[in-house]
Amino acid sequence: MKDRRPGFDSELAGPVAQALLDTLPARTAVVDPAGVVLAVNHLWREVEPPFDDGDLDVGVGDNMIELFRAARGPSSAIASLFAGALEDVLAGRSSRWEASGDNRVEWWGRWHDAHIVGLRVPPGGAVISHTEVADDIRAGLELDHWSRYDRLTGLPNRSTLMEHLDAALDDNDHLALILLDLDAFAVLNEAHGHAAGDALLRAVAERVRVGVGPYGRVTRFIGDTFVVIVEDAGAVDVEALVQDLQGLVSRPIRLADQEVLLTATAAVTVAGDDHETAADLLRDASAALQRAKEAGRGQVVSAVPHAKLEEAERELRRALGKAEFRLVYQAELSLESGRVLGAEALLRWDHPTRGRLSPQHFIADAEVTGLIIPIGTWAIRQACRQAADWPMVIDSDPLFVAVNLSARQLSDPGLPEIVADALADAKLPADRLCLEITESAVFERFDVAVTTLSRLRATGVLIALDDFGTGYSSLSYLRRLPVDILKIDRSFIARLVDDVRDRAIVEAVVSIARTFGLRVVAEGVESGEQLALLRRLGCDVAQGYDIGRPGEPGEVIELARSMARHPSGRARGPMRFVRGR
Ligand code: C2E
Ligand code: CA
Ligand code: CA
Repeated sequence: MKDRRPGFDSELAGPVAQALLDTLPARTAVVDPAGVVLAVNHLWREVEPPFDDGDLDVGVGDNMIELFRAARGPSSAIASLFAGALEDVLAGRSSRWEASGDNRVEWWGRWHDAHIVGLRVPPGGAVISHTEVADDIRAGLELDHWSRYDRLTGLPNRSTLMEHLDAALDDNDHLALILLDLDAFAVLNEAHGHAAGDALLRAVAERVRVGVGPYGRVTRFIGDTFVVIVEDAGAVDVEALVQDLQGLVSRPIRLADQEVLLTATAAVTVAGDDHETAADLLRDASAALQRAKEAGRGQVVSAVPHAKLEEAERELRRALGKAEFRLVYQAELSLESGRVLGAEALLRWDHPTRGRLSPQHFIADAEVTGLIIPIGTWAIRQACRQAADWPMVIDSDPLFVAVNLSARQLSDPGLPEIVADALADAKLPADRLCLEITESAVFERFDVAVTTLSRLRATGVLIALDDFGTGYSSLSYLRRLPVDILKIDRSFIARLVDDVRDRAIVEAVVSIARTFGLRVVAEGVESGEQLALLRRLGCDVAQGYDIGRPGEPGEVIELARSMARHPSGRARGPMRFVRGR
């Protein structure tokens, strides 16, 4: 018959106690009444202690109280608190001590449940155990914090912004909102990797926070857009503040082995009568930002009152309904053959009272209101229809037509279908259509742009990168971008003859184009001198007032015929169109 009395054989007691200790799921140590460690379990030995100070690493034989009291490093405060609690338990002033549940503290930088339990059997002592709180529980604890703050930058996030803003709108009539958006951030993210992108965002957040100082609250709105609420815009020079912030953002940022230059575009919205809620204010601010982006990188734009935008939208809808839009065409000349290769379609609005309007008067409104999609669709269809009717010019390939797209159209997933329909309905071969997009439009949403452009290009349509050189001109992205043509921005052409740097840029673009097998178009050519120089520099195609102003299709055809008869150089006379705007 076996002995069933409780307790162990004294010889077994030690090993069994140790085995039991080792089954515990917490770092556990047993101390004697003086605080000297008698035993520890395997977790205590194997799991790093949560202290910052190496000298708090306690093992068998150490006096835990003395060690903790003597701590001098960053954990000393919590260590002496813990030593006091242990003393209390060992002296019997309390039977147990715990920091768990609601009492749980951030122990040594990590969340811990900790227990000290007094031993009621002679000779006394205590069991000390602690476990790091499991990730999911910790997530719950932190959820509250991180539902209000942005993890990456530590700034208040969008929902906190809305709260602040609603409250501020209630008791403030001098409120201004600054939206600050990094330019071409998607490209940088792409070029340097996402970890670098995160580092850039953190650096920018910090600069903006410091730059704003006591004048406002900074939040991370979304992605690379930051919002500053200036509660007392009467007392702060908001314009100067915006300039400061843009200046701070554009100072070089050091990443591991290189310096990165960023710019930010800003929109300022002053709260007015039609801003009852945070959402109203943000709506106008976002629209203003979109305008600013249209205007180019690093711009500042003030919000247009919502009522004015609604008015613009009504007008544009009416114009579409009443067919007030027109396309004029500007010839593109081959510098090699001296022949007209095609023409770019440029939008005009024949406004009943304001006369013929050029795009800068209405494209931004059309973008913001979303009407650029139907208007742009009309332009694509109209250009295809008209180009299909263009007669053949003797001994030359049929003329191509180029149509401009705006950023909004480029991120429209329906675009490839719109283009395919326009080509099919007009019976125009795809390779006679070229779509022009600006660098900045591409880089607002690089990935989407690459996908859409690849789909378009697969159908045979040509793609031109417009205003090249003004945006984020980096070779690494060009390689990934499905384009056929680079259009050098006219600002470089304007200074080409006088400025050696602009000449160098044009030369560089030409050699880049050679490397990537692209065609180079110089736009805004206004003089014969520029034309001659461009030819010498190896530029392929030229476009500008010196060759022809935008005009009716008939004028382009006429020019094309005249150039076919005198292909060697620039014919004077019939090629100088002065009509149109
Ligand atoms: P862009 O694509 O850079 O078009 C060239 C602009 O430069 C045209 O202005 C043209 O008239 C002007 N230009 C041409 N040659 C010269 C020259 O020798 N010197 C100077 N100083 N300017 C010259 P426009 O027609 O006012 O168009 C402005 C912008 O509006 C275009 O810039 C394009 O981005 C946009 N746009 C035009 N049509 C459309 C369209 O159908 N859809 C969209 N989304 N945007 C369009
Ligand atoms: Ca263009
Ligand atoms: Ca252009």
